[in-house]
Amino acid sequence: MIDLTLTEALAKLNSREISAVELTRAYLNRIEKYGSDLNCYITVTPERAMMDAAASDARRAAGEAKFLDGAPIAMKDLFATRGIRTTAASRMLEHFVPEYESTVSQKFIDAGTVLLGKANLDEFAMGTFSKTSFFGAPISPWQIERGLTAGGSSGGSTSAVAGGLAIAATGTDTGGSIRFPSAITGMVGMKPTYGLCSRWGCVAFASSLDTPGPIARTVDDTALLLSAMAGHDPLDSTSAKNGFTCSAPLEPILGNGKKLRVGIIKEFADVKISDDMKNLFEKRIADLKSMGAEFIEISIPNILDALAAYYIIAPAEASSNLARYDGMRYGLRVEGRDIYDTFKKTRAAGFGDEVKRRMIIGTAVLSSESYDVYFMQAARVRRMIADSFNTAFNQCDLIICPSSAGTAMPLNSDLSPLEYYALDLFTVAMNLAGIPACSVPCGLATNGLPLGIQVVGNRFDDMRVLQLAKHIETAAGVDNRPTTIMGK
Ligand code: GLN
Repeated sequence: MIDLTLTEALAKLNSREISAVELTRAYLNRIEKYGSDLNCYITVTPERAMMDAAASDARRAAGEAKFLDGAPIAMKDLFATRGIRTTAASRMLEHFVPEYESTVSQKFIDAGTVLLGKANLDEFAMGTFSKTSFFGAPISPWQIERGLTAGGSSGGSTSAVAGGLAIAATGTDTGGSIRFPSAITGMVGMKPTYGLCSRWGCVAFASSLDTPGPIARTVDDTALLLSAMAGHDPLDSTSAKNGFTCSAPLEPILGNGKKLRVGIIKEFADVKISDDMKNLFEKRIADLKSMGAEFIEISIPNILDALAAYYIIAPAEASSNLARYDGMRYGLRVEGRDIYDTFKKTRAAGFGDEVKRRMIIGTAVLSSESYDVYFMQAARVRRMIADSFNTAFNQCDLIICPSSAGTAMPLNSDLSPLEYYALDLFTVAMNLAGIPACSVPCGLATNGLPLGIQVVGNRFDDMRVLQLAKHIETAAGVDNRPTTIMGK
């Protein structure tokens, strides 16, 4: 049963071939069997899952099935879930049980999904391999004996979906945290337009960049999840009025004489990527050409500065957002001599090294001596990048580029902080610009591991992004089913 995609499972649930209870049990069995190997969940919620599943079957029997009724999903442990521990993978929130539900997780409840548990991630979503998690790193189910990263920060989500420990999952993408982990685990991961999915109740990292989004095995599944997640939310002041609705399967935008102009970013041509990535990228371009897509070169002049701008803006916002963890209101509290000593001891004990590094960088770039030369300069670069994308979308409909330079690396790779940051080169610009981007599998590298291509669109062009991603998915024909990847 865990071999079914979300779309297939919903069809079988609706035709009563399977029940939500059976499907949920199958996933809970998988979690029991592989959950601790993959370390993809921080908290598993089996009782809640069985309750959700029984309620789902009852709704269906009464003819009241909802949009995703009975789909067993994993929720990134950054989304607050009422009565269920929400840790952000930090010691600071190790025992934090929210009294409220995030908008995104509420929308999944409203859509009838079954909550399997809270997925592992980098601490406060800061990282690229999910290694900064207080609960240890999740592992990729691909070539499991090699101990590869499932990416980050949504690495628990990708590990769970790729390993067949959830039918789909949520993620958040501040600088690539949905797309990078999805790419290297053979999953589809969509960073929607900023503002399409509410940030309310999602633990804040860098509020002007944080973007909740879906992770699934297919583009159709991803589109279904996005329609459940998206929608205006008065509780989030940056929430867009635009919604997103769709039903699977997505309509093709190529073939039958349809025209589409696809842009290739000139500046990315000089970035070093693996031969496999290069070959697969070219292959998929050839496929799209044969279907009638026209390719043009476009320029985003400052795109290679996006990384520097991101690693100024994101820490700056993080340093302000994380000021709230002071041991007074919620989370860890380590008593000190006086109130300042309590702040100090709590924050020293509650945060890991990477989170501290970000707060120090953020505080430095916001200080009066550095504000103009760092923060304001980064804000200008951000504006220029957003403007360049806007101009580019006058010349082309959509853009494609690699999701990463190469395949998943072993978790024990010894990279410096800067080397980790550099892995975000292909993803951060879309967050700075607030535009939608979807990573879709484009093939397997010669080492047998998956690689991904990003489809990038203009603001609120999320539908066409997914439609083109689906053509790439079909052309690539990657088998990302768990039975194959677990070698069983
Ligand atoms: N790797 C990036 C970082 O460490 C992106 C993280 C994210 O998107 N949450 O900031």
